[in-house]
Amino acid sequence: MWQMIVSEKRDFLFALLAGTISGLTAVALFAQSGFLISKAALLPPFYIILILTAFLKLFGVAKSASKYAERYISHRVTFSLLEKVRIRFFQSLQPHAHALLSSYRGGDLLTRMTKDVDTLQQYFLRVAYPPLVALLVFFGTMLFTVWFSVWITLLLLISVLLCTVFLPVLWQKKKEATSQQLYTESLTEYFYGLTDLTVAGQRPASEQALQQLSVDFEQDLQNEEKQALQAQLVNQAIALLTAFAVVMLGAYFVTTGALDGLYLAMLLLIALTVFEVAIPLGTVPLHKVKTKEAFNRLTAFNSATIPKQALQQGELQMLQADKLSYSYPNSEFQALRDVSFTITKGEKIAIIGPSGAGKSTLFQLLIQNLQPNVGNILWNGQKTAQIQHEELWAQMGIMLQHNHFFSGTVRENLLSDQEDAHMEELLTKLQLPFSLEQEVLENARNLSGGEQQRLALARVLLRDVPIYLLDEPFAHLDSNLTAHCTDLLLASPQTIVCVTHKLDALAHFDRIFVIHEHQLVEIGHYDDLIEKQGIFYYMQKLST
Ligand code: ADP
Ligand code: MG
Repeated sequence: MWQMIVSEKRDFLFALLAGTISGLTAVALFAQSGFLISKAALLPPFYIILILTAFLKLFGVAKSASKYAERYISHRVTFSLLEKVRIRFFQSLQPHAHALLSSYRGGDLLTRMTKDVDTLQQYFLRVAYPPLVALLVFFGTMLFTVWFSVWITLLLLISVLLCTVFLPVLWQKKKEATSQQLYTESLTEYFYGLTDLTVAGQRPASEQALQQLSVDFEQDLQNEEKQALQAQLVNQAIALLTAFAVVMLGAYFVTTGALDGLYLAMLLLIALTVFEVAIPLGTVPLHKVKTKEAFNRLTAFNSATIPKQALQQGELQMLQADKLSYSYPNSEFQALRDVSFTITKGEKIAIIGPSGAGKSTLFQLLIQNLQPNVGNILWNGQKTAQIQHEELWAQMGIMLQHNHFFSGTVRENLLSDQEDAHMEELLTKLQLPFSLEQEVLENARNLSGGEQQRLALARVLLRDVPIYLLDEPFAHLDSNLTAHCTDLLLASPQTIVCVTHKLDALAHFDRIFVIHEHQLVEIGHYDDLIEKQGIFYYMQKLST
């Protein structure tokens, strides 16, 4: 955070200067009032009163003007810092979007983007900058009071240290309450799953749980407020006690002749004013914990490095997996273990296996949405982990297990700039009776699961790239359509890697990779695997 503040150093210094001037002029204003009151009691010549009053006015104006400047500049710094934080956060998030969504709850990311950035707003205004201003103002004031009384200066110093250093340490909270985060996460999930919860009859239960979370959140907010109020109250009490002590000590020094009585009121008012700067410092530790955690959450993703190499030889000749293993974050077991294979140009590969075996995990590794914990994926011998994702994606036609559709037309959802005639021909081949202008609703609510899959398949087939990678493209198709679409897919000259749990139409693939219990257990042509009578043979037998 300080790094960023340094980048705004000019405004930061100006804000500091304005804040210090404003603090010092406030002290001067009250000091002079005190002096004026005492002086007036001694009936001095009228011109002295006049001069003193003029100074009073001057300090008053200077105080207001510098306060305004301070507010203005410090807020400007804050907003430009926030802008930087937002941009950085988005930039750090964007390259890892998929991996993040598989390990964080959507609501969590949402909270980070909104609430945490807002919390950081407090950092500059309440944590980084007030202690510095307070320090400068005290220092200035003490340089002044020490001329009048060393002991009273010492007294001020001790009370101020008590308020700003010792007590805040006592109040330091170890951890921020997580209730708000939980509440936002659950609320987002509730909205995502509203239909499912309703039809399952679970809505009241989940609403009740939400209600409880919101009560906890409310409670935490109140506690926080109470704590802040307590801190301020204690500081206020110390301020008053100090003022009282200054009067007592001052009165004593006046009687011993160590202090001119004329300055007593002035010192009292200085003591009261200087604490005005100190009182907000009581809440610094609270804000510090909050902003620190927000900052950590916002920068948590920065550590992942972004690959920078360009693709060395474009056209795909060989795609290899070398001893790939992968465990999901916060998961104990390996979703994929020690997988190695080589796929050569033009080959048609089916990756099959029971549900949960690790097929999609392997698929996500191949398309660079996940990075292996161990092992490498090699594109013509070059490690893909080092290649810019965009370069690789430009070579791939990818169909995910869940595809997103935008509200718009069929044409827009094909995400292609091919000729209309070509697109229409493909739709017909896929037995989709759509015109290109036909409307698609958000999330393709007006299309059946099978239609969505064929539309997604069309997206891939329209891409002029060397390799197609597809995850369960036929999951919602009946066996006739599956066979038909498989033939259509396999007729393309591209290298094809197709994940499927459907065992029909597999004989048309060049090779089948069998994933079983997170490992690659068999590789071979359909006929060889049947002949071998291994795992694939029994899977096939069970399904018929
Ligand atoms: P499938 O072969 O059905 O495509 P997956 O590759 O999706 O299987 O899943 C393999 C294993 O990894 C499963 O046991 C699954 O529970 C687990 N898994 C999948 N996604 C995650 C995730 N985001 N976090 C933790 N575990 C996961
Ligand atoms: Mg899967």
